[in-house]
Amino acid sequence: MTAPLVDPFARAITYLRVSVTDRCDFRCVYCMSEHMSFLPRAELLTLEELDRLCSTFIRLGVQKLRITGGEPLVRRDILTFFRAMGRHLGTGALRELTLTTNGSQLARFAGELAAAGVRRVNVSLDTLDEGKFHRITRWGRLGQVLEGIRAAVAAGLAVKINAVALRGVNEDELFDLVAWCGAEGHDLTFIEVMPMGDLGAEDRLDQFWSLKDLRARLETRLTLVDTPERTGGPARYVRLAGSGQRIGFITPLTHNFCEACNRVRVTCTGEFFMCLGQEDMADLRAPLRASPGDGPLEAAIRAAIARKPRGHDFDYSRQTVAGRVSRHMSHTGG
Ligand code: SAM
Ligand code: SF4
Repeated sequence: MTAPLVDPFARAITYLRVSVTDRCDFRCVYCMSEHMSFLPRAELLTLEELDRLCSTFIRLGVQKLRITGGEPLVRRDILTFFRAMGRHLGTGALRELTLTTNGSQLARFAGELAAAGVRRVNVSLDTLDEGKFHRITRWGRLGQVLEGIRAAVAAGLAVKINAVALRGVNEDELFDLVAWCGAEGHDLTFIEVMPMGDLGAEDRLDQFWSLKDLRARLETRLTLVDTPERTGGPARYVRLAGSGQRIGFITPLTHNFCEACNRVRVTCTGEFFMCLGQEDMADLRAPLRASPGDGPLEAAIRAAIARKPRGHDFDYSRQTVAGRVSRHMSHTGG
């Protein structure tokens, strides 16, 4: 038996998020600058390398694999990779294969994703207003995303909507978003904006809308019932009294969730981040390329897990952006 991955704080590592590209067909204001430069293709792990990498993690006990980016569905041939990972669902080694997407390509790929074994998909959607959607994503079209969501539902995928809480931007849509998700049968999770990437500290503080405030706003009209439900990620859930609709909160700033962290991340170039909010990382591309066997890769993964930090240090509480990391979210993968 291979020993499972356990970090120095006795947390079992069972959840891997892999960014398969740094590219995207949107330019969301909190995620990318308008004129991003992207990595040369030779830097990226090939689909075969991604397969070896993920399969090694699965052999070491990873049970949940989330594919992200950039926009994962803009990577050429990415469905080949999803199908390859589907074989681990077949053996039972992997419990869940999923992705986080902006939804723009879902109309094209939802059926094939479902056929590959994907059962749930997270779609990022911060607003239902077309003009606002365009201002947030710069390049996106709301209609295309809504069509993608409908295609996902038609293909039998459960859709969870992720909305970044943005002060002065989608504050006024709070109840509309909740009502729309309720009517469509989607879970909805709000995310606090994190200080990732060098987009200007001023902007970040202006955009920050604490989920404590958001929750209090919801409670002016709705009764929220706390539940202990978890889906293996960082979200905490409530249910609406009456309808039972589920709403999640991801609060890296106002409530630190690191104590139960079971997650690690790999970027599209094979950088292995043991914590989203810290700079320490290990290069997994070199061991992948150094040997056709997976021994050096496994050794590099184990050595890195032994350095997984206790938690991140994001903090806005003193009205400055502390604990900032310079990577863009599209680099590490959300
Ligand atoms: N392109 C896909 C998407 O948008 O869903 C996947 C990658 S994106 C980086 C993953 C998630 O990170 C999205 O839900 C996005 O809203 C979120 N995100 C991006 N920048 C963020 C930031 N600075 N703070 C909090 N969430 C952020
Ligand atoms: Fe692209 Fe997702 Fe970042 Fe928006 S949040 S720019 S869709 S990677």
